[in-house]
Amino acid sequence: MDSPAPQTSTPTAAREVFQLMRDGRARTKAEIAELTSLARSTVSARLDLLLSAGLLVPVGEAASTGGRPPLRFALNAASYAVLAVDLGASHAAVAIVDLAGEVLDEVTVSSDITEGPKPVLDRVTGLARRLLANQGLTPDAVAGIGVGVPGPVEHSTGRPANPPIMPGWHDFDIPAYLGVTFPVPVLVDNDVNVMALGEHTTRWPETSDLLYVKVATGIGSGIISNRRLVRGALGSAGDLGHVQVSGRGEDVACRCGNLGCLEAVAAGPAIAKELSESGLTIESPQDVVAAVERGEVEAVRAVREAGRAIGSVLATCVSLLNPSVVVVGGSMSATGEYLLAGIREVVYRRSLPLATHQLRIVSSPLHGREALVGAAAMVLEDVLSPRSVDALIERRSRASA
Ligand SMILES: [Zn+2]
Repeated sequence: MDSPAPQTSTPTAAREVFQLMRDGRARTKAEIAELTSLARSTVSARLDLLLSAGLLVPVGEAASTGGRPPLRFALNAASYAVLAVDLGASHAAVAIVDLAGEVLDEVTVSSDITEGPKPVLDRVTGLARRLLANQGLTPDAVAGIGVGVPGPVEHSTGRPANPPIMPGWHDFDIPAYLGVTFPVPVLVDNDVNVMALGEHTTRWPETSDLLYVKVATGIGSGIISNRRLVRGALGSAGDLGHVQVSGRGEDVACRCGNLGCLEAVAAGPAIAKELSESGLTIESPQDVVAAVERGEVEAVRAVREAGRAIGSVLATCVSLLNPSVVVVGGSMSATGEYLLAGIREVVYRRSLPLATHQLRIVSSPLHGREALVGAAAMVLEDVLSPRSVDALIERRSRASA
């Protein structure tokens, strides 16, 4: 016989009850009792723990099957907030997000990543404080922080690992530095992984296998396999920029020292360089996008050709991973159907029918917000996990002691 639990010491079971409520599998005491086989009195004790920690909230009465209607409970989205941070080469974006994943407020400012970690992270902290204050919240309300950075990261420690465009950031302890202001879990990953999570969570939650490809100054991908982000042994899984392209572009030198890298052939700067050498007044990837929008034939042709090169590498990825969706994002995806057409042409031609039978190749409509949305998804998954729920219950009971 299960006896009532003391109110201060059974977080193990309380966290399990929380997962049932979070998923919406149970809404009432009776439903929890049925799903867990716990005694009603035990269920009550565990609900009390979650209610006093602020994680659950009563939301009215369920339909009655006779007698007094039972109370219903749900996740209290407003009990805590998380911070989502997207750092790019030249911008910093911060959002404050509730536990249900709703963005409450966000801000994007110019920020040069080469200034180094301290000035950039101080800026992030300042923006976060301002957003919290606007919502009438203090740093205590923050349960976790998710950060995307434009370079490789050792995810388990949150330290960048030899990031090429982030001088001064190598091995910098981002969680410890942000932890001075916000003593909460801080999760850091490279921007492409975070973008893949953002796409998966917001647009393809039912899809178990998704490949997100960012085509911008560089080319990289984030892999979702069996609903999990695949990072690889040292966090470099999906780094497609330096895979060799065969055929056209084989002899193009890449900044990494090799020849014929995908990035050197098909990323934004490569397309801009090619068009400028052929006599067009194009200096940057943004100029390429503008020329495509104006319908300039040479630019359209070059973008489609870049798509084919990307497609030749993606065909291999599709054979290896069998995704059902490939999402193309990054600044060059603003060239729309032309880039996609080149990619589709080669992927469908070079892959076996079984791999492409239900494969969709689409562009991202999130327009640069993938990273912010993904950073929020990454940290929410952690904050609402059973282990973290234990910590939140303890934190509230310490605060009220
Ligand atoms: Zn290279």
